[in-house]
Amino acid sequence: MSFKLRAQLLIALIVMIVSTTLTYYHIFQEHEFALQRAERSSANVKLTFDAMLKDTEHFYSFRAFSNIHSEGVSDAIKKRDTQALYNLSYPRYKTLREENPSLIIMQFHASNGLSILRMHRKELFGDDIASRRPMLREVHKSHKLLSGFEGGIRGIAYRIVVPVFEGANYIGALEFGIDTNYFIEKIKKYTASESVLLIHQDLLGAADERFYKNGIGMYRYSAIRDDQKELMALFAKNNSKMQSRVITLNKKDYEINPLFLKDSLKRNIGVILTINDVSKGYRGLIEIVMGSVLLTLIMIIVFWGVFEYIFNRLFEKLNLQEQYIHTILDSEHNIVIVTDGETIIYANQAFFDFFGYSDLTSFRLEHQCICDFFEEGESDEYLKAKMDDMLWTEYLMFYPNIEHKVKMSREGKASIFTVHSQQMDYKNQIRHVVVFTDITKLNELATLDVLTQISNRFQFDKNLDHFITLSERYAHEMSMLLIDIDHFKNVNDSYGHLVGDEVLKKLVHVLLGGIRKSDIIARWGGEEFVILLPQNGLYTATKLAESLCKAVEAHDFAPVNHITCSIGVAEWKRGENADELLHRVDEKLYRAKEMGRNCVVS
Ligand code: GH3
Ligand code: MG
Ligand code: MG
Repeated sequence: MSFKLRAQLLIALIVMIVSTTLTYYHIFQEHEFALQRAERSSANVKLTFDAMLKDTEHFYSFRAFSNIHSEGVSDAIKKRDTQALYNLSYPRYKTLREENPSLIIMQFHASNGLSILRMHRKELFGDDIASRRPMLREVHKSHKLLSGFEGGIRGIAYRIVVPVFEGANYIGALEFGIDTNYFIEKIKKYTASESVLLIHQDLLGAADERFYKNGIGMYRYSAIRDDQKELMALFAKNNSKMQSRVITLNKKDYEINPLFLKDSLKRNIGVILTINDVSKGYRGLIEIVMGSVLLTLIMIIVFWGVFEYIFNRLFEKLNLQEQYIHTILDSEHNIVIVTDGETIIYANQAFFDFFGYSDLTSFRLEHQCICDFFEEGESDEYLKAKMDDMLWTEYLMFYPNIEHKVKMSREGKASIFTVHSQQMDYKNQIRHVVVFTDITKLNELATLDVLTQISNRFQFDKNLDHFITLSERYAHEMSMLLIDIDHFKNVNDSYGHLVGDEVLKKLVHVLLGGIRKSDIIARWGGEEFVILLPQNGLYTATKLAESLCKAVEAHDFAPVNHITCSIGVAEWKRGENADELLHRVDEKLYRAKEMGRNCVVS
């Protein structure tokens, strides 16, 4: 995966995380507000309900007093005259029923607990109603007005029982009963929430049980519409304590809150379950999520696009710079590489041209380090992969003021390079920028004798120092031959310089034919030549000198008749330096000349 794509995906991820976090926070806040709203609405319903009960109690106790104080009523109660009481109370009952059709009970009770008259059922009286109705018993006992929910033959009703006195004597009570649905309707009217009323099972008389079979936990429904049954069943599921819940039914969400109702003795006598349709709130939630998703998408697209644009611009610029650098480096004839000392990290075109690889990968398949190609040189200047226990790159850094050379061959042809290195830090790692300058031609010019094409004296001096160091280190023998053409002046004088030059070339040819590759030959000056024989003692050196002497004598140097040479031979002694050795070999040559020439002195 490209860097750009990775960065873009990262940005998208960050946008998504931030947006999701904000959305969650928003939803959480919304949820909190919704809960507060629900709490407030629950409290409202309860307050409304309490106020309704109080109003109802006041209203009907006032109506009861009016009735009791009407002419003949208290007398009829005292006499327990059902018919007279009916006749006297009927007009008022009729008016009250017209006012409130939910008034289902208007009943007169005798102080002994028997029923005197049920306005709604005139023929049923004389029964011991107080034995079934605790509230009545309490009024008969305390002679005080009581109100509250209670069951009866006509079901659960909110009842107001008003005591009736004649003077100070308690003679009975007048009871009004209001259907519970009356309150449910009012709650709906005032608070806009549907409600279901449930009554505590302990408050239901035996006679009521047939009406109130179903319920939740200890509570029974007073009334429930068919369309509410399924919702209530879902609410009741594993919720016998009736805790607030949000129920989803037919793609709608309903918040159901219980309002526990207490009677005058502070007992829970029932509960109102208010049902609020909160689907709108949840639709709001979906809108928030959808909005957030849309915003996130837009932000991702915008960020993606902006990043794409900036990256491309930047990349173009970088690309151009990189192209410049590549072009500059590739137009360079010198080999330029970047390496950590062992592995090549970058190489220019000159590198590939020299080694014959098309790219770094194919080079690395066969070689790790350019130092695999470093060859042994004839002097100390030549680098090896490891020197003085250092990597060659470290060695370059350690000896910045010495000229370092490298010999590398391709297809049998050796090339000589000078090496320069620059160090740079890359992510706390050292990188070396190494430049290899091909000096093969220059090297030849500086080190070879133009006429004979063998090493010149300058080069020989370097070689000599190098081989003395090696012989010293490895305790090798080493010998040296100094060759001088006899009476060469005469050749020049007789045949001219050009012929003299040809003789010199021919002589070199003869000498090269007699020595080995590992021997080092150089033109020491004029008609003098020097041969260094590494790892050879005086004996072999003398033998070689003699064979060379003979070979020269035997060679045809036409037009020159006869060429001979004298050779001095000396073996290097441990501890001896170049000058001392040269001095000794020169003395030997001098002796050879003295001895009559065309001979070897060792
Ligand atoms: P000896 O046997 O004592 O060595 O006698 P010699 O004549 O060889 O020695 P000398 O040192 O007197 O002369 C050396 C001559 O070599 C002198 C010079 O003209 C000649 N010579 C030196 N370099 C060259 C060269 O490059 N080309 C030619 N043609 N002659 C050279
Ligand atoms: Mg000479
Ligand atoms: Mg000579």
